Amino acid sequence: MKRVAIIGAGPSGMAQLRAFQSAQSKGIEIPEMVCFEKQADWGGQWNYTWHTGLDKHGEPVHSSMYRYLWSNGPKECLEFADYTFDEHFGRPIGSYPPRAVLWDYIKGRVEKADVRKYVRFNSAVRHVEFHPDSKQFSVTVHNHVTDEVYTETFDFVVVASGHFSTPRIPEYEGFGSFGGRILHAHDFRDALEFKGKNVLLVGSSYSAEDIGSQCYKYGAKQIISCYRSSPMGYHWPENWSERPQLLRVDQTHAYFADGSSAEIDAIILCTGYLHSFPFMSESLRLKTDNILYPLHLYQGVVWEVNPQLFYLGMQDQWYSFNMFDAQAWYARDVMLGKIALPSFAEMQADTQAWHEQEKTLQDAAAMFKFQGDYIMRLIDQTDYPSFDIEAVRLTFLQWKKHKQENIMAFRDNTYCSLMTGTMATPHHTPWIDALDDSLEAYLQTEADLQQKAG
Ligand code: FAD
Ligand code: NAP
Repeated sequence: MKRVAIIGAGPSGMAQLRAFQSAQSKGIEIPEMVCFEKQADWGGQWNYTWHTGLDKHGEPVHSSMYRYLWSNGPKECLEFADYTFDEHFGRPIGSYPPRAVLWDYIKGRVEKADVRKYVRFNSAVRHVEFHPDSKQFSVTVHNHVTDEVYTETFDFVVVASGHFSTPRIPEYEGFGSFGGRILHAHDFRDALEFKGKNVLLVGSSYSAEDIGSQCYKYGAKQIISCYRSSPMGYHWPENWSERPQLLRVDQTHAYFADGSSAEIDAIILCTGYLHSFPFMSESLRLKTDNILYPLHLYQGVVWEVNPQLFYLGMQDQWYSFNMFDAQAWYARDVMLGKIALPSFAEMQADTQAWHEQEKTLQDAAAMFKFQGDYIMRLIDQTDYPSFDIEAVRLTFLQWKKHKQENIMAFRDNTYCSLMTGTMATPHHTPWIDALDDSLEAYLQTEADLQQKAG
């Protein structure tokens, strides 16, 4: 029997487990699966930890998520086609659930599929090497429960270790002598730490937008965000200003490219992440920026120089969970021999064409279309349930519009499920006033709240 190693039990690794289990449930013989997960539970980024730096085993802490994080896009755009929100929650909920609610949803599908038994938790993959003679991989793993390092052999390897975990950390003049705290978004955990403070955010993407919004919501005195290329450009609250490039800091102040300066208490570097695979041997290691169509991955998934190796979820992500599904189903069918791959040259040419096409995309709307087309290309080749990707694209456009209208209230909007047609219900409390992000608080109904009040 062939063996497949899956590295990581986040949404991508869980999708791979579910893809194989789905084939098995239809009577198809599947390889023996072993999923290695360095944390004690599954869910990847969605598995919150208060730890920063190193965990109790000395492993780099994986998750970059923080308390009070809510979905930054409509849940209708990431819904699984084979396990809907209706099926999981049994009733309609809001469109922007907090982290714990989405974690519950992701877990629901794989618990139903009964695939936890394939995961070895507390198991960090240390090294992956391919042996041309045997045409197999050796995978070396550190079992933190027994403190043993061992090596096993596999026919296929699926890398699903995520790429929003290793911080990209720029250096600015004066950082060494700045009098306050400097941290990367990866280590941000609780906005209450910045209550009453003047916070500087470096960067102009999702982390800057959302961490700034958290700081505003939980009482920061002043928020300044600064950009390298272009501003986020939303209508910010009065105590939030957006400035051009940071030039330097001294002990108390930050100085910007427009000649302005500001007194600041803390600096949060929202400067993105590095694709980092220290456990992959050099010839197998993906090197890319955070883009929609990296080179070297045929159909965004297959390692072209060695098609026994797959990477899942390595793209920049407009789509997330359902894209990982489309990729996992495709990788599964390549491993099962149901999909035949073209020659190396043809794979390379195909990837290069998509990579070049990405460079021509002018705006977010074009990017939604590009990534949607990519996902449909995968789905059309497998038995993953098809869905109306154009409707998802239109929901993304609504989301963009709602953010432009009111960046502090866009999460109060609701959308229609593109899988079930169910309309989401408005959350019982506007996002700006909802300070408790727990699953229990979120799932309370109006009746629960009235009962509590009365
Ligand atoms: P991850 O979730 O990163 O999971 C990778 C797993 O691999 C982890 O469990 C990790 O422990 C494990 N692993 C890593 N290295 C090893 C190793 N050497 N050995 C064994 N195991 C290993 N997406 C959305 O759709 N909506 C959102 O609102 C959203 N918010 C986000 C907020 C933040 C702050 C961040 C950083 C990301 C957010 N994302 C969001 C994107 C998020 O990355 C994806 O939703 C999703 O978690 C990616 O799944 P993944 O399985 O590819 O990677
Ligand atoms: P990102 O999207 O890759 O953006 C990185 C930002 O850092 C860009 O604005 C970039 O500017 C800037 N930058 C990089 N190097 C810099 C430097 N040397 N100096 C100044 N600026 C620099 O990373 P991200 O914002 O951390 O988002 C990562 C993922 O997390 C996304 O998928 C996002 O959806 C997710 N996320 C979600 C939430 C949520 O609310 N649920 C919250 C946070 C993050 P340029 O434009 O100039 O390159």
